[in-house]
Amino acid sequence: MKLEATCDTCGRLFLLQQTLPEPAGTGGRCPFCGTRFGRHYVQVLPEVIREADESGQAFSKSLETLGGMGPGFSLNIDVILQSLAQDFAGTDQQSA
Ligand SMILES: [Zn+2]
Repeated sequence: MKLEATCDTCGRLFLLQQTLPEPAGTGGRCPFCGTRFGRHYVQVLPEVIREADESGQAFSKSLETLGGMGPGFSLNIDVILQSLAQDFAGTDQQSA
């Protein structure tokens, strides 16, 4: 799954997977400006990114399976994604 983020330092877009440990990724640094992300979370970042990636793939696969069953209804993907975004925004506010 494409997990895109924006670097707070240089403002460039990158994929979270690009920051995985070396040699697969940058080892927790911005692929463009080299800023080190989440200094205090270096140990857990790769695992959390992997979890988000796998959960996202499982979510997509479930929706695909549902859609492929020909259940007699069509999934309203826009509303599902909006709901997900609202859940995320709620989580973000709670942690702030
Ligand atoms: Zn950067």
